[in-house]
This record gives sequence, C-alpha cells and structure tokens, in this order.
Amino acid sequence: MKKIQMVDLGGQYEGIKEQVNDAISEILETSAFINGPQVHSFSRELESYLGVKHVIPCANGTDALQIAMMGLGLKPGDEVITADFTFAATVEVIALLQLTPVLVDVYPDSFNIDLEALEKAITPKTKAIVPVHLFGQCANMGAIMRLANKHNLFVIEDNAQAIGADYIFEDGSSQKAGTIGHVGATSFFPSKNLGAYGDGGAIFTNDDKLAHTLRGIVNHGMYERYHHDVVGVNSRLDSIQAAVLRAKLPLLNEYCDRRRATAAKYNLAFENSEHIIVPAITSSCNCDLQLCKCHVFHQYTLKITNGKRDGLVQHLTEKGIPFGIYYPIPLHQQKAYLDDRYKEEDFKVTNKLVKEVISLPMHTELDDEQIAFIAKSVIEYVEA
Ligand SMILES: *Cc1c(COP(=O)(O)O)cnc(C)c1O
Repeated sequence: MKKIQMVDLGGQYEGIKEQVNDAISEILETSAFINGPQVHSFSRELESYLGVKHVIPCANGTDALQIAMMGLGLKPGDEVITADFTFAATVEVIALLQLTPVLVDVYPDSFNIDLEALEKAITPKTKAIVPVHLFGQCANMGAIMRLANKHNLFVIEDNAQAIGADYIFEDGSSQKAGTIGHVGATSFFPSKNLGAYGDGGAIFTNDDKLAHTLRGIVNHGMYERYHHDVVGVNSRLDSIQAAVLRAKLPLLNEYCDRRRATAAKYNLAFENSEHIIVPAITSSCNCDLQLCKCHVFHQYTLKITNGKRDGLVQHLTEKGIPFGIYYPIPLHQQKAYLDDRYKEEDFKVTNKLVKEVISLPMHTELDDEQIAFIAKSVIEYVEA
C-alpha cells in the first residue's frame, strides 16, 4: 500500500507537471513575476467558471476576507456575525479592523451557522454576516440572504473551503458557492481544493462599483498611479501561482468528483457503525452523493459519539494514518477572542463538536486499498 497522506499534492502534480513546468519556465524567462498575463487570464477564467462578474486576485484567503470588509466600508464598532466553529482567520480579520466579532453556534449536522442563533444575534449595530461554507458545503444561503435583506446587512461568504460547490435554492436553481452574497472570499492555500504552490486568494463580486473599490484596495488604495484615494494594502497573487492555478482550474470539477467518490466509499464502509456519524448533505440539496455537486469535501469529517475520539487519535497515530481535528477549540474560548458577552449555553453544539470531530485523509489521489485500510482502522477501534 502507498503511504497514506492527509493531502497528496505530489501525486496530483504528476498529472499537470508538463503544463506547470512550461508555464513557470516561461515566467522565469520573461521575468513578469508580478501582474503577469497569467494573473489576468486566471481571473477571467475563474470568473467564467464561477459565473461571477468580477474575480479580484489577492495574496491569500485571510487578506481576501479583510479586503472584502474594507471594501464594504465597515467601520470600527460595527458588529459582524460569524460562526464559532471555523478557522480563526474569519474572526481575526474582523477583530483586526476593529469591528466587533459576534460568534454564534452552528448546526450539528452541517457544521454551518445556525439560522436561529444568527437571527437572535442581530442588533441595530450589526452590519454584516460572514457565513463560512465549512468543509466544502454551503451554509443555508437562501435563508441567510433573506435575513440579510430584511435587516439590511452585507453578506460576505468565506468560501475558502467550498470552491466549486453548488448551492441549490428552494426553487431548484443553483449558483456557485462564493457568488451568492454581496462578496465572496477564497483561499488558494496549497491544501485547499483549488490550491496553488504557495499562498494565494481571491475576492468575488457581481457588484461593479464594489469590484472597482476592491481593485484599488488590493493595490495601496491606488486607482490612478501614485494617487492614493483610500487606505489600501499590498495584496497580490503572483504570476507563478496564477500559472499553477490556471493548470488546475480545468480539472477542478474532476478533482471534486474524485473527492465525492472517496466520500461515498468512506460512507459505505461506515454504514453499519453505530457510533460513527458520516458527514450530512444538507436538506436543501436533495441529490445522490455520487452526482451531488453541493459538497466538495474539502474535509471528510466524522463525529465519534461514544467518547472514543481522543482514543481514536492515538490509535490512528499508531497505525500511521494521518488525520485532522478541525477544530479542537471553539473560537469563543480562544484567548484572543474571549468576551464577557459570550455564554457557554449559547454554544452547546460547538462545545460538543470539538470533542467529537475527526477528519480523515481526503484528497484526489486516495486509492481503494488506502480507503479500506483507513475505514477498517477507525471501525476496529471505535466499535470495539
Ligand atoms: C484557509 C482558510 C482561510 C484562510 O486562508 P489563507 O489563504 O490561509 O489565508 C480562511 N477561512 C477558512 C474557513 C479557511 O479554511
């Protein structure tokens, strides 16, 4: 059996080696390292893939979130609501901009922001909602957009984990994750579903005026050379990363299909396990897993319900099987984000999830033998 990896970027590289190497050599020959033609082409190609009017590339996913909030003109003291169960980048940029983060609980099945908790958290100071499409599946965007319209709030989608996923509305129409809110932010960190060979990120919007504002902010607030109209940042996607992303974008749907096929094999293996809960496909998406485009399985995350999660960590370590605990500590309990406003009883789900979740190896190169070995190793410990 091949050595099992959490993410196998080397194996994926084999399939695009020639194209990537040629593109990188060309950049080395022309020295167009920053703002080369690859950056422009990639942005146009991603716009067409996503069906969104504007893709503004930037340096990483965290910057993408920050620049989105700057572009919307959010001001210190404005409240921004997001999920307690996510990667810290989401809440970090809210705090950095001196906005007030308001963390709320998530659903136990989809791991995404709880609508009731979200609505309860809205105050006259609330200006924006940041739904995080955790592990590769959209939050309930139909209801979130209705709520946002009712209360006149901006919606900034944190799409770092769900690029390529479809969101299906109640009327059956669908839109790509990250293109539904006023603005979307994504990351091209190497291990993400569309990963560069270094850092990268992008902001999406259908709003022409906002796109113009964002294009200036990423470039020191310049709309005309050496005229600085607003305070900006320096956040660029470099040409080499854009070349890698151009090679991978045409394969993104196939990569997502392979992840879903792996998820389906895991699901089947765990079918009769009493204490292992496989990832749920949310009810707004009523399609068969094999054909389903709603979940792109950035992570394949199980819940272990009999208290054996920590023991399983030990067992998998002994077996040489990599895994991830995303996330081990709720954000409201992190030192940097402690706040007297938070009450433990408001985070019942997240507080439980952090003790139950475990993410198994998930990437485009896993083979059947590896999947079977991983599943068998999980079951033999948890169900013993
Ligand atoms: C990865 C990630 C980010 C940050 O992306 P970077 O490119 O690493 O800055 C933000 N939010 C979520 C949910 C992520 O998974």
